[in-house]
Amino acid sequence: MAKSSILGYPRLGKHRQLKRAVEAYWAGKLDDAALQQAGREVRQAAWAVQQTAGIDLIPCNDFSFYDHVLDALCLVGLIPPRFGPAGQTVSLSTYFAMARGAPGVPALELTKWFDTNYHYLVPEFDAPVGGIGSSKPFDEFAEATAQLGRPAKPVLLGPLSLLLLGKRHTRPLAEHLRELLPIYAEVLARLGRFGAEWVQIDEPVLVQDRTEEELDLLTTAYRELTRVANRPRIMLQTYFDSLDERSWPRVMSLPVDGVGLDFLRSPANRELLNRHGFPMNKVLGAGVVNGRNVWRTNLVEGLELLEEIAEHVAVDQIWVQPSCSLLHLPHDVRLETHLPAEIKALLAFAEQRLQEVVTLTRGINHGRSAIITELEQDAETFRIALDATPIHHRPTQERLAALSEDDFRRSSPYEVRAQLQRQRLALPLFPTTTIGSFPQTPEVRSVRARWRAGKLSDDEYWSFIRQQIAALIRRQEEIGLDVLVHGEFERSDMVEYFAEQLEGFVVTEHGWVQSYGSRAARPPIIFGDVYRTKPMTVEVSRYAQSLTDRPVKGMLTGPVTMLNWSFVREDVPRREVAYQLALALRDEVRDLEAAGITVIQIDEPALREGLPLRRQGWTEYLDWAVNAFRLASSGVADETQIHSHMCYSEFNDIIEAIDALDADVISIENSRSQGELLRAFLDHRYLRQIGPGVYDVHSARIPSLEEIESLLLKAVEILSPDQLWVNPDCGLKTRRPEEAWPSLVNMVEAARRLRERFLARVS
Ligand code: GLN
Ligand code: ZN
Repeated sequence: MAKSSILGYPRLGKHRQLKRAVEAYWAGKLDDAALQQAGREVRQAAWAVQQTAGIDLIPCNDFSFYDHVLDALCLVGLIPPRFGPAGQTVSLSTYFAMARGAPGVPALELTKWFDTNYHYLVPEFDAPVGGIGSSKPFDEFAEATAQLGRPAKPVLLGPLSLLLLGKRHTRPLAEHLRELLPIYAEVLARLGRFGAEWVQIDEPVLVQDRTEEELDLLTTAYRELTRVANRPRIMLQTYFDSLDERSWPRVMSLPVDGVGLDFLRSPANRELLNRHGFPMNKVLGAGVVNGRNVWRTNLVEGLELLEEIAEHVAVDQIWVQPSCSLLHLPHDVRLETHLPAEIKALLAFAEQRLQEVVTLTRGINHGRSAIITELEQDAETFRIALDATPIHHRPTQERLAALSEDDFRRSSPYEVRAQLQRQRLALPLFPTTTIGSFPQTPEVRSVRARWRAGKLSDDEYWSFIRQQIAALIRRQEEIGLDVLVHGEFERSDMVEYFAEQLEGFVVTEHGWVQSYGSRAARPPIIFGDVYRTKPMTVEVSRYAQSLTDRPVKGMLTGPVTMLNWSFVREDVPRREVAYQLALALRDEVRDLEAAGITVIQIDEPALREGLPLRRQGWTEYLDWAVNAFRLASSGVADETQIHSHMCYSEFNDIIEAIDALDADVISIENSRSQGELLRAFLDHRYLRQIGPGVYDVHSARIPSLEEIESLLLKAVEILSPDQLWVNPDCGLKTRRPEEAWPSLVNMVEAARRLRERFLARVS
C-alpha cells in the first residue's frame, strides 16, 4: 500500500500563539517552562490534526522556536565561540542569542531560504564542532510517538545542505564534512535506539547546480550514514525543484532507503523518472500536492500524475506527499471569513492539503472508484467556483496583446534624460534622500487598526494621515534633506497596500506564513487578471508635494516584487502576470507625473530572490523581470526621474540586469558590506546614479557622522561625484523616531561636508 506522508507543518500555531509566546519570553514576561509549554501545545496540535486527517507518516522535529537551520547547528554543536564555550548543551538563551544577537555580540546572518520568503540563520564554519548539543530531535520523537501511539518521522537537515548553506569554511569542504558525519551518525543511532523507523533527511541543495566534487561529498556522506548499525531507514528528501541529468544517477545510487522528489515545480523530475526509471529497492516520496501555492489540488490531475509514477515504482513503495514542507503555507483556509466564497472554495492551506494527500493515497491504493465521490465533488467545486470568479479581464488582455517595443523604452537615452532632470530638479551634489517609509509608531498602527475595525471614519483616518505627512515634510525640510518622501504612513505593508486596491487580488485575514523567527507575512493572492480601476497613491503624493518646494518622491512597489511576494495564479505564465502588474503601475506612474510629481521611485527589493534555483533559468527570468520594470516605468517624460530601490548586496551576478532596468537612480543596500559591493559597479562601468546605503536601518544603532563620511569617501573613490546619492540602506519603518532622526541628521551633515570638500577641490 502507498502511504501518506507530510514533510513538515507550519509552526507558529493556527493563531500565531508561538509568536506571542516567544516575544513574551524575549520581553521577560514568560519563563523557560512557560515557553516550552507553548511550544509543546503548538506541536501537539499539529500532530493531532495530521493524525485526525489520516496521515501515515507524521513528521516531528519540524517544529522550531526560531529556525530549523539554527536547530541543526545546535544539534551538531556548531556554535561560534562568541556565544560561549563549545561542547555543551545549548541553552535557550544561547539559542536566541545566536538568532538575535546579544549586547556586543552580533547574531548569525539571516538570509533567504532558497527561493522562498523564509529566512534561515547562516551556519559559520570557522567555529569548532562541539558534538551533539541538543536533545530536541530525541525529545520531540518521544513526545510525538507517545501522542500518536506509533513512531513519528523525525526530520533532520542533511549534512550536505548544512555544509553548503554555511559560510566561512576554513578548510576544504570534505574536511568539514568529515567532522559532521560522526555526529549525524550518532544522531541516527540514537533515533534508532529510541524506535524511529524512518528519518527524513532534507537535502534541498540537490536541486541547485552542484559540482562533481559536491556530488562526491553527497556520496561520501550517505555511504557513511547508511553504515550505522540499527539505524532508522533514511528518506533523502529534496524539494523546490528537480534533480538533473547529472545528479539523478548519483542520488539514485546512494544506499539510502528512499528518495523524495518534487513533481510540481518543474517537469524535469517527471521526465527523469520516465527516462531512467526508479531503483526497485527504494521508496519514492512523490511530491504531488503543492506546498508552495494555495490553490486546491485538481485531484484528477494529481491521481494521473501518481498513476504515471506508479508505472515505474511498485505502489507500496510510494509515499504520497506535498512537494515540500507545509511551512510555506498559511494554516487553515476555514479561518477566512471575508474572502469571496467562490475564491475561498478554490483555496487549500496546510490543513486542507492533508486531506488532499490522504484522498490521493486512497485513490492510488484502491483505484479511482474508491474516491469517486471526492473526484466528483472536486470537479463540481471547480466548475462552480471558476464560473463565478472574474478571472479574465478582456481589456487587460487586449492591452497586453497590443504592447510594442516602444512601450518598454523611454524616449531618450539616460545621458539625455539626466541632463534634463538636472536642470529641472536643480539638486546639489550628493543629494540626500530616504528610501520611503518613516517610523510606524504605535500611534500610527493603532489609528489604522481602529479605522479598520470601523471605529474611526474615513475622514478621521485620512486627516490623521495628512497630519503625519505634514509633520514629516516639515521635519525633513528642517534637517535639510533634498528629495523628500511622504512617509508611507498609510501602508501597513508595501505589497498588501497595492494588492488591496488592484483587481485580480484578494488579501487574507489569517494567511500568515513565517518569514523569520517570530515574524510572519500575509502574502496576497492573485487569482485573475490584474488591473487598476483608480489611482492608488496620487492623493497622498499630491498632498505631500503641495506642502513644499522640494521634490517629493512618488513611491510605488514594483511589478516583480508584487509578484514574488504574492501567491500567484498558475493558469498563465508569471511573465504575463508581471506585465499586467506593470501596466497597472504604468498608469499610476503617469498619474503621479500628471499630478506634478517629478521623482518617482519603484521599489524592487524582491527582484533578485525571484531568480530560478538553477542558472539555466536565469536569462529568461531576468529578461521578463527587467521588461516588467521597464513597462511600468517608461511611460514618463524625459524630465521625470525614475528611481528604484533594492535591499540586498549581491549584485555581481545580476549587474547587467540592474543596468538594463534603465532607472535613472537606484538606491541599494551597502553599509553592511562596508562599500565592498560598489566594486561590482566599477567593474561593470555603471554610469547611472546610485545611492549606496550609508547606514544599516535594521540596527537600532545611530551611525556617527565620521562613519558615514568615511563610507561616502570610499564611494567617491569608485563612483564619480555626480553619480552619487546619499541615503540609508532601506526604509525606516521599523525604527523608532529617536533612532531615525539623529541618524538622518548625521547623514545630511556628512553629505554637506563631502560637498564642501569636493567643491573646494575643484575650485
Ligand atoms: N519604500 C519602502 C520603504 O521605505 C521600501 C521597503 C523595502 O525595500 N523593503 O519601506
Ligand atoms: Zn529595502
